[in-house]
Formats: sequence, structure tokens, C-alpha cells
Amino acid sequence: MMRLFLLVHLLLFQVQRIIEVGCPCDPSKPETMELRQCSLCREAERQPADVEFFFLPDANPRKPNRTLLLLRTHQYDGLRAMERMPHRLRTRMWETAIRKARELWGNEWGLAYNGDQVRTQCHFHIHIGKLLKGIENDRALRIVNGPAEIPVPKEGSGMWVHPHGRRLHVHLNEQICETVLMR
Ligand SMILES: [Zn+2]
Ligand SMILES: [Zn+2]
Ligand SMILES: [Zn+2]
Repeated sequence: MMRLFLLVHLLLFQVQRIIEVGCPCDPSKPETMELRQCSLCREAERQPADVEFFFLPDANPRKPNRTLLLLRTHQYDGLRAMERMPHRLRTRMWETAIRKARELWGNEWGLAYNGDQVRTQCHFHIHIGKLLKGIENDRALRIVNGPAEIPVPKEGSGMWVHPHGRRLHVHLNEQICETVLMR
């Protein structure tokens, strides 16, 4: 139901999807970053140059319980970001997101990465929040021991991750993933 809502929202408000409009920004030309799909790119530019990751509350007032993890670099903006990211950086990124998620939500945390088909922000980001009850499924489930084993989603799909005892559940092959988290 929430997934349907998000699709309707995209259509009604004509939020532009990155897959349609691309990622035209160039950090050396501030005027190219004024577009709506670049609001997270602008946030990255406000950070000190030497940070690797940073966190932001979700800017949407209807998602007061959401936090975002972002990279400082624009190198992984746009499509197929996870596929382009080196394994070591991806592992550090997951470790950093999980640490923050635990801090915020104890063992009830979840992380979500939306697929390329539904993304409306050009800048790489992971959604951090409280996992909703009753969303568990085993459709494309992988169980891994830790961040270094989290697989790369294929063909621009998204994923969501949550704790499962001492291990992690990784749910693959979905586009709209952030809806498994409390708004
Ligand atoms: Zn941008
Ligand atoms: Zn960016
Ligand atoms: Zn699960």
C-alpha cells in the first residue's frame, strides 16, 4: 500500500526521476546544482572537504523519523552507483550507516537504498530508520555475516538491510525500498 502511495506521489507531483532527467550537476558550476534533484548535492558541498560520510535528517517533514547517510563526494551520483563503488568504500559506507542506525534505533533499525527507477535525487544516499513490523519476506533474501558481505544490487535495483540475530538480512531486487522504514 505504501509502495502504491509513493508511485502515485511520483506521478501526481511530477517529481522528476533521475533515470529520465539524468544528473546534470557540476560542483565547479554552482548554477548547475540549483535543480530540485540536486538538493542533496548542495548539502554535500556544504560539508568540510575532508569528511567521507555525513548524516542529514530527511528534509521531508512527513518523514520525521528518517535520517540519511550521504557521501561527501559526487563520484557516485546518478545511476548504478553501488556497482561503481569499490568494495572497500562500500563496506565502510555500510559500517558507518549501521553504526548510526544502531545508535538511533537499537536492534530495530533498517537501511534502505532505492532503485534507479524510482530515485529522485542525484546524490548517493542511504535511508536510515526504524524497520516496520510485518514487512519480512523471503523473495530475494540473502543472509550475510556483516557489511563486507553485503552484495551489490543488480541492474540498478534497490535493497534493504536489517539485523537478523548476529547476522544481516539483505533484501534484493526491489525498486521502492524506503517504505520498509517508519516515515
Ligand atoms: Zn546533482
Ligand atoms: Zn552530488
Ligand atoms: Zn528480512
